Amino acid sequence: MLAKRVHEVDASGIRKVFDLAQDLKNPVDLSIGQPDFDVSVPIKEEAKSWIDRGFNKYTVTQGIPELREKVRDMYAKDGIDTGDVFITSGTSGGLLLALMTLVDPGEEVLIPDPYFVMYKHLVKLLGGVPVYVDTYPDFKVTAARLEKYITPKTKILLLNTPANPTGAANSEEELKEIAALVKPFNFTVLFDEIYRVFSYDMKPGNIAKYYPNTIILNGLSKSEAMTGWRLGWACGPKEIIQEMIKLQQYTFVCAPSFAQKAALAALDNPSENHVDDYRRKRDMIYDGLKNKFNVTKPDGAFYIFPEAPGGDGDEFVAKAIENNLLIIPGSVFSEKSTHFRISFAASDDTISKGLEILNSIA
Ligand code: PMP
Repeated sequence: MLAKRVHEVDASGIRKVFDLAQDLKNPVDLSIGQPDFDVSVPIKEEAKSWIDRGFNKYTVTQGIPELREKVRDMYAKDGIDTGDVFITSGTSGGLLLALMTLVDPGEEVLIPDPYFVMYKHLVKLLGGVPVYVDTYPDFKVTAARLEKYITPKTKILLLNTPANPTGAANSEEELKEIAALVKPFNFTVLFDEIYRVFSYDMKPGNIAKYYPNTIILNGLSKSEAMTGWRLGWACGPKEIIQEMIKLQQYTFVCAPSFAQKAALAALDNPSENHVDDYRRKRDMIYDGLKNKFNVTKPDGAFYIFPEAPGGDGDEFVAKAIENNLLIIPGSVFSEKSTHFRISFAASDDTISKGLEILNSIA
């Protein structure tokens, strides 16, 4: 009855966690992949005013021209020529359209492991072959680590910095080295910088500066806590972006209209005031774990990815859940199952309670 492609996608890892968690009354929840703050009041007001003014219809597929222009200007200020720009239904929308545009069955997509879970499944859904680039134990994606996985079938490198689920980020220098490595092969880099604002120790770089065959994917889900508004953008070579727009016309149609207008205001006045708070939360979780856990300090995003005591992440997460703590096993994000993911996008009180439980069961 079902199409074969649905069997390519396996949701059992996450499902297992939620099955185990469903009996918990008031769990200490460190599993959530979105900010714990809300959309700022002026941006909410802006969105509401556009809804009230009747800006509720389809927009053009590629997004309202003033927002495309603003995104282009934002990158231009950083010295990045974005080629063409269009507005997507979240970063996920851009990701799906980019992969649909570029990957033929049997072609290989380099995915640094651990990875954002959507990467693996979208590639498989399209008949592509995920090639996992092992980045353990420090989770750094480097040219040296990537090199041995490149083959004549390599079509794409999926680069996410700062990264989900590890918080690892690439320095400008590392991005330059990766650009130099891939240049002779000229495959496309999909550069997912959704956590760009959450960069705690260094200025975030962008590989598009050094490598024009890059599709930049970003959006306001994390920086403005607008995960439900579905607002993102994709920038890159015109010939790829135009095909992505064509596919958007027959899939997402357009990004939500009011969110496009609100995004204009958000890009004029970004909510960067949460970053210091999240840096402090990063320090709090890292300092609270480092004595008992083998753990790398995240450079950015709002996740930390410690090794499970005993080396079995699934077993450790089951034990955490028995103790009322929700975290996610590393096997959801990796071909290995040795680690687990904690999200520190939570109140200080929740983080403290989580640390107490983790240290008591380690
Ligand atoms: N990329 C990464 C690495 C993410 O973690 C997420 C959200 N969890 C997304 C993309 C998707 O974000 P959006 O809400 O913009 O689709």
